[in-house]
Amino acid sequence: MRVVDFLVVGGGIAGLRAAVGLAEAGSVLVVTKESLAESNTAYAQGGIAVAMGGEEDVALHLADTLAAGDGLVNAEVAAVLVEEGPRRVGELLRWGTGFDRHPAGDVAEGGAARAGELMRTMEGAHSLPRILHANGDATGREIVASLLRHLRGLKNVELMEWATTVDLIVRADDNGVGRVLGATLLDAAGGLIEVRARAVLLASGGAGQVYSETTNPAVTTGDGIAMAYRAGAELMDMEFYQFHPTAFAMDGAPRFLMSEALRGEGAWLVNESGERFMARYHAGMELAPRDVVARAIGREAMEGAVYLDMREAGKGLDIKARFPEVSAFLSGYGLELERDRIPVRPAAHYMMGGVRTDVHGRTSLAGLYAAGEAACTGVHGANRLASNSLLEGLVFGARAAQAMVEEQETGNREQGTGNKAEGGAIEAVNVEAWIAELRRLMWREAGLLRDEVGLRRAKAGLTALRAKGPGLLGLTPRAQARLSAMLATSILNPGLLRLTRRTLEARNLLGVAEAMVQAALGRQESRGAHYRVDFPERDAVARHSVVRRGELRFIA
Ligand SMILES: Cc1cc2nc3c(=O)[nH]c(=O)nc-3n(C[C@H](O)[C@H](O)[C@H](O)COP(=O)(O)OP(=O)(O)OC[C@H]3O[C@@H](n4cnc5c(N)ncnc54)[C@H](O)[C@@H]3O)c2cc1C
Repeated sequence: MRVVDFLVVGGGIAGLRAAVGLAEAGSVLVVTKESLAESNTAYAQGGIAVAMGGEEDVALHLADTLAAGDGLVNAEVAAVLVEEGPRRVGELLRWGTGFDRHPAGDVAEGGAARAGELMRTMEGAHSLPRILHANGDATGREIVASLLRHLRGLKNVELMEWATTVDLIVRADDNGVGRVLGATLLDAAGGLIEVRARAVLLASGGAGQVYSETTNPAVTTGDGIAMAYRAGAELMDMEFYQFHPTAFAMDGAPRFLMSEALRGEGAWLVNESGERFMARYHAGMELAPRDVVARAIGREAMEGAVYLDMREAGKGLDIKARFPEVSAFLSGYGLELERDRIPVRPAAHYMMGGVRTDVHGRTSLAGLYAAGEAACTGVHGANRLASNSLLEGLVFGARAAQAMVEEQETGNREQGTGNKAEGGAIEAVNVEAWIAELRRLMWREAGLLRDEVGLRRAKAGLTALRAKGPGLLGLTPRAQARLSAMLATSILNPGLLRLTRRTLEARNLLGVAEAMVQAALGRQESRGAHYRVDFPERDAVARHSVVRRGELRFIA
């Protein structure tokens, strides 16, 4: 058993920023499922939205955030995001994050010199350019690198890679309300470790892998959300998944993101016949809110291919310098932004829902906090404003750390039990095929366009999958011991190790998918990213969905 003051699950922007704050107050263990290079943060391209220009700028950022969220944004939380954002980004700058700056000799339209100033770009639904970026389109990687550099200079922080959290350790009181005391980990050597902590932060990211079409890397299987749910925490707004309009669409190729910043720099969307079709859907054209653009592409794609066309906008722009990652990826497929139209289609991108928290990252379980994409503060409402999520991780990672430090005195290290899980044999079914079936089902029936019939099919399909893989879906303490013993003798067999982690991920994907479908069925309206073909109108009153232990309710 390991004992630390603070356990942080996840090494993306939220977890790393939180660790900085926690390190001042005690020992911190940060665990990540793969290497620190694998997180949604590391893949973030476009940049981080932040209002660095004073009060008016902040007010506009708030207005844009509220508008994008389609009536469901928690205004108090959004105000915290935009007001604290500049300070947190200022810290990043002090810690050496190399956001791109205008080069020597660069002048603004009015003739003022801009050399050395931070570059700001535009994205959809922003009223002005406020997105900072680094190394062109490699913003996330630069932020992770600078946070890690800073963290490595601090005492008290241990980074443990290739460690998968299995479940939370909880102690339930007489009313069945749990206090979280730590978590079980499956470490790189395949051993199970019990970690006890005064407070646990879930910064484990989203769940893009629940869909067969996603821009998210393999680690995004909603583990933290599913673990919290199993432990009895409330989840909020699980039906809201943002579909990015422009993922690379070539058979056999990954759904690599064609950053919104491309459209921010003027790229067009055209259909098979070359028509710039967004004119028929929204006055904002290519920079309309993401859900509008994604559905428009979805509709056009029924008639033929849809392309991102940068050829006109790219004239006079050093595209390879501005979009090095995208350019390098495309060159692998013989394509160039300057020369070719790029085939695109929507893919699951960002989870607005997650573990319900207050503005300090507190969940409904004592001792458990959440921040970043795993959390749902209500800051994004029904639709996230582009590039607000890196900022969210930064601001609310820092706030959660502060609350964990302040409240740690009330924590304790009592005996708890592993969270109860059903199941017996471990390798009852082919886990990869089982996961693939779940992901296809979710894409088909609970994706961009939804209706009652499809969602009921999704629900039935998930029930069938649960029945098909009972051994796969939970590990009793006995099964855990068996798993541990198996792995101890097969460290040299990476296939087995992977299968085992996949078993845990399969269980988590199912838990997340079930909560998503339940909430999507319950929300009989269309709002933001949740589009019900059978209920195309928006309700007069905006309500959040909350799921806990299989019960769904709606709250103001
Ligand atoms: C391709 C792409 C481009 C994007 N571009 C932008 C952008 O330009 N601007 C913007 O604001 N947002 C962007 N986003 C969204 C943004 O990157 C994420 O919302 C944000 O980085 C999430 O940060 P996080 O710290 O919450 O989680 P992540 O960065 O996803 O980190 C999650 C961490 O949790 C760990 N983890 C997960 N499960 C477990 C487990 N069971 N045990 C241990 N560790 C676990 C992972 O290993 C990882 O370290 C983009 C997303 C993608 C996929």
